[in-house]
Amino acid sequence: MEITIDNNAGFCFGVRNSVDTAEKAVADYHSIKCLGQIVHNDEEIMRLENLGIEFIDYEQFKKTKNETVLIRAHGEPPETYEVAKTNNITLIDTTCSIVSRLQREIYCSREELSGGNGQIVIFGSKDHPEVKGLNGQAGEKAILIHKENDINKLDFTKPIHLFTQTTKNISDFNNLVNKIKSRSKVENFKVNNKICAHVSNREESIINLAQTNDVVIFVAGKNSSNGKMLFDVCKRHNERSFYISSLKELRMDIFDKASRIGISGSTSTPKWLMEAVGLRISEICGQQN
Ligand code: SF4
Repeated sequence: MEITIDNNAGFCFGVRNSVDTAEKAVADYHSIKCLGQIVHNDEEIMRLENLGIEFIDYEQFKKTKNETVLIRAHGEPPETYEVAKTNNITLIDTTCSIVSRLQREIYCSREELSGGNGQIVIFGSKDHPEVKGLNGQAGEKAILIHKENDINKLDFTKPIHLFTQTTKNISDFNNLVNKIKSRSKVENFKVNNKICAHVSNREESIINLAQTNDVVIFVAGKNSSNGKMLFDVCKRHNERSFYISSLKELRMDIFDKASRIGISGSTSTPKWLMEAVGLRISEICGQQN
């Protein structure tokens, strides 16, 4: 039996930077707080908690005073920075540079459209932390498009500036662009495609992995947005693709008659976890023989 780990899977540079910075900070300060889960992966969160990193939610953040708190790669809305200033919190800001740029562009659009009837539209999931940060730059007034019907919230007679969460699927985004184009005036519609190449470039290697293996195990946290998107790509090219978040979910029947097994993951899946999955598969399939 052959097991292949997708070389392109694992932390993107934005997540890598956040995790490395958190590890360095905890080594310097012995304990550190991080606002929200640094990655959508419970196994990695557990490892970091064991190092001394405490993950806090917004309510806890608002009660924190005179401490150091790390901001993760997803970025934050302006309100977070205001709370930090009021509470004398020192921020270690690891917002990904691609997300920061997108935040600035949304803010510029907001300035450009101020006083008019223009609409800032974000293609993304309303509960995703990155989208909350982006919406903050739009003064919490962006129209969020998550599913096809949401397009009916738009007023096509008024200017539309369209942005996207960085981890969305490129063909879904292009479909949305075409739908808006068909109902809006050309001069009213501005498209800002900021889908991250570190996610979209992975599609090709996932397709290749899906097509060259009998079974694909896709490892990602349950809340990983790019994990769900990349898994959909994988599943389209190999019916025997399985999404798992922990080793416990691996079952013997998944590998029935399989001789080639591929392992991949999202931008928040640590390499060590994919390697552990590989070892566990070897054990399970060893039991089978
Ligand atoms: S997916 Fe792209 S935009 Fe998001 S954190 Fe990673 S590198 Fe940055």
